[in-house]
Amino acid sequence: MSGLSINAITKRFGDFAAVDDVTLAVPHGSFVCLLGPSGCGKTTLLRMIAGLEEPSAGAIVLDGDDITTLPTHKRNLGMVFQSLALFPHLTVGDNIAYALRIRGASKQDQRKRVEELLSMIHLSGFADRPVTKLSGGQRQRVAIARALALSPKLFLLDEPLSALDAKLREAMQVELRQLQQRLGITTIVVTHDQREAMTMADLVVVMGKGKILQAAAPIEIYRKPADAFVADFIGITNLLPVEKDGAGRSTVLGAAVPELACPSGMTKATISIRPEDVRLTAPGKGMLDGTVTFVRDLGGTIETFVEAAGTTITAVATPRERPDVQVGQKVGVLLPAESCVVVKS
Ligand code: ATP
Repeated sequence: MSGLSINAITKRFGDFAAVDDVTLAVPHGSFVCLLGPSGCGKTTLLRMIAGLEEPSAGAIVLDGDDITTLPTHKRNLGMVFQSLALFPHLTVGDNIAYALRIRGASKQDQRKRVEELLSMIHLSGFADRPVTKLSGGQRQRVAIARALALSPKLFLLDEPLSALDAKLREAMQVELRQLQQRLGITTIVVTHDQREAMTMADLVVVMGKGKILQAAAPIEIYRKPADAFVADFIGITNLLPVEKDGAGRSTVLGAAVPELACPSGMTKATISIRPEDVRLTAPGKGMLDGTVTFVRDLGGTIETFVEAAGTTITAVATPRERPDVQVGQKVGVLLPAESCVVVKS
């Protein structure tokens, strides 16, 4: 297969498996985000792909070649880490040309490639500037250009944008994705930010405790999270218990919802329903009655928090869809069955 295959990879530190029997196929040219909470093994997996950490078991295959034990410098990779590690005493151009110079490229070839890369990252004319005189976002782009100087087969980034402020970070996510699409380079990014992963990735790989919990396109993870952990981790969602009552009917927070079925063989599960799918109506007209406890008006959207059956349910709507609800108001809550995803608890 063209692309990267990770076959049953495990990394143990003593008795502890930081990465536990992970198998993943990364098609050539795709953008993959490894997503998960701190300590779930994302960085360790990336470091094994980079050759910075030796797997305890399993194999890594790149474009048909087994690279499991190949030294990093022979893997044809570009890497960017959170710290960036630009050389502070060098100019932008010399930073970018560094690997070319080590390879013995002629001055002319170096200059040509630096110009190409600078134009690619929208910093033409910056070659002679010291890197210390750049903004955070510009430095980020130089680190990316430096990693791409040798046209690597695989581009690996570990939390590359986490040092940037929120606005710049969002702009850089789009820029990085567009650059990756233009170059068609297979890219793997570690992040713990679900929005970042959803913005950039073709394939989001959600990890927990050293294992892959779900690997799918962002929209599929969003619509059909594999379990309650994934649903909770990938964003704001309402997680509510669904149970079978004595008569075998499904209930959510005590209200009968015959359309929802627990997975076969289970009497209890969790439903995930996005706040934008929750509808508020008049008391007595929904499945549950509740009381509005907080309203967050963000201009374009209004988030309403409703306390119902001892649980807080969040509903999101545009001002046009939901004129005026007040704190303390009684409302009915509708959870349309077609928007409820039943997941394992
Ligand atoms: P973060 O987002 O905090 O970087 P992560 O998901 O990238 O987390 P890893 O850095 O891969 O997590 O670490 C996974 C687990 O392996 C953690 O519990 C960590 O403490 C452990 N670990 C990582 N490197 C080593 C090491 N060299 N020796 C011992 N344990 C390690």
